[in-house]
Amino acid sequence: MNAPAPEKNMHFIREIIAEDNRTGKYGGQVVTRFPPEPNGYLHIGHAKAICLDFGMALENNGECHLRMDDTNPVKEDVEYTDSIQADVRWLGFDWGPHYYHASDYFEQMYELACGLIRDGKAYVCEVPGDEWKHYRGIPTEPGKASPFRNRSAAENLDLFQRMRAGEFPDGAKVLRAKIDMASPNLHMRDPVLYRILHTPHPHAGDKWCIYPMYDYAHPIEDALEKITHSMCTLEFEVHRPLYDWVIQNCRLFPSRQIEFARLELTYTVMSKRKLLELVQRKLVKGWDDPRLPTLGGLRRRGVPPAAIRQFCERVGITKYDSLTDVALLEHCIRDELNRTAPRAMAVLNPLRVVIENTDGLPAAVRGVNNPEDPAAGTREIPFGPELFIEREDFAETPPPKYFRLSPGKSVRLRNAGFLTCTGVDHDPAGNVVAVRGTFAPMDAPVKVKATIHWVPAHAAKPVEVRLYDRLFKVPEPDADKDVDFKSHLNPDSLHMATALAEPSLLDARPGDRFQFERIGYFAADPDSRPSAPVFNRTVTLKDSWKPA
Ligand code: ATP
Ligand code: MG
Repeated sequence: MNAPAPEKNMHFIREIIAEDNRTGKYGGQVVTRFPPEPNGYLHIGHAKAICLDFGMALENNGECHLRMDDTNPVKEDVEYTDSIQADVRWLGFDWGPHYYHASDYFEQMYELACGLIRDGKAYVCEVPGDEWKHYRGIPTEPGKASPFRNRSAAENLDLFQRMRAGEFPDGAKVLRAKIDMASPNLHMRDPVLYRILHTPHPHAGDKWCIYPMYDYAHPIEDALEKITHSMCTLEFEVHRPLYDWVIQNCRLFPSRQIEFARLELTYTVMSKRKLLELVQRKLVKGWDDPRLPTLGGLRRRGVPPAAIRQFCERVGITKYDSLTDVALLEHCIRDELNRTAPRAMAVLNPLRVVIENTDGLPAAVRGVNNPEDPAAGTREIPFGPELFIEREDFAETPPPKYFRLSPGKSVRLRNAGFLTCTGVDHDPAGNVVAVRGTFAPMDAPVKVKATIHWVPAHAAKPVEVRLYDRLFKVPEPDADKDVDFKSHLNPDSLHMATALAEPSLLDARPGDRFQFERIGYFAADPDSRPSAPVFNRTVTLKDSWKPA
């Protein structure tokens, strides 16, 4: 059930892979991986990485592994692994049998570290963590060698084994790679490979009290899985020499790390820490709050996975950081829903219409389910002598260029015919409480300039609708480090309302998506109950995306 590929743009990673296939560097194999740390929920930024990792494998008849990058025992939680798998599947990708845990490689990582020690390429160091910065130094001047740098291989092996055996407390010793204390790249100045942490691991259990560092573990994970192209975000570019050093010095499969720019979106925060803060402080209703950029939130909001895939393709893959306009995401969502979402009618702010020529009035009319998709068919919509229309679609004294309903004027009633306003009822205070009118069938020779939606008064049912706006008021809520991003929260990001819906909408099941004609795209929420659907507005109909 792998997702169909969206329209493609050439980018530098596609070019690298095409070139490797041409030269036969990896024997024509393309093996990629998506390596989330199971310490949070996936968001739209991860979707960019997922679409790239799985996409490149799919396009090249390769495979993409899903790997829980769980080398840090402290931050991880098993609860997240399930949601990560569900989210990747929902996005439309399949890892087949290739589901892995980095922690399953701990034994091999340990053996490889012993090999580095034997080769004189790693040593046990006792310089305390907070003092190491004086040894490491600054990029423009060489650092200072650790006093433990020249221990014999035998002594190092013994100490490393005793580290594993639990003889030393947390932080007492580390294993360092012996690389180059004069390198202008600080990551190459004898980086830590292993640290002591007397903490059980959620997946590996209580077998370990030493844990490998990311920069050592990741290339080994990749190489053991024979990953050919290991894509990661730009901040790892400066770590690449260390990635390559580990691969070479452990004599492993030559996986290649390739960096690309992370996705940043306007009106959105993407940092796991900030998302967690919003959830924990109950500023949103949970990880799948439809206002969050988490995949759970987007799903609940009604965003189709195909729209996210198309969005990721449109954003493209580059080597420079940039900020993407959230309007592009909304555009991709509309584009997909326009093609796939059945139409229905619902009225948010009802005004009663009384039809006066009731002789021969149809009891029902047929509505086209999706003008973009003939296969979607038609449905029956009850009709009757009383209807509800939107209050905004009637003006007793119309302003200039107002083409909708007003006294003496006609409009088309979507799917039904024509309505001509013949009178207005007021309450004692002078407010309009109903509009009177005459009905004419679709084939009547009436000329109108507007079509409005409606629901039949006798059959329409109230449904709960949740109208979402952007979660933040400003395009870059976390741009200024000195201002709390939470101060930019939009207080009106959720507006609860009741709509009168045509009866077909009562059958909606959680996840079903609709276009409420002239109002927006909506999806039935998991809070829906039989005959009592709750709808989330996914997006409005108005597209504000302007290509640069
Ligand atoms: P952490 O700070 O916990 O490492 P992370 O966002 O990098 O946070 P990971 O679980 O390590 O989370 O991410 C898994 C993969 O998703 C990584 O390869 C990472 O580069 C990629 N990724 C994360 N955020 C984005 C983003 N905004 N755009 C593109 N890729 C991303
Ligand atoms: Mg990460």
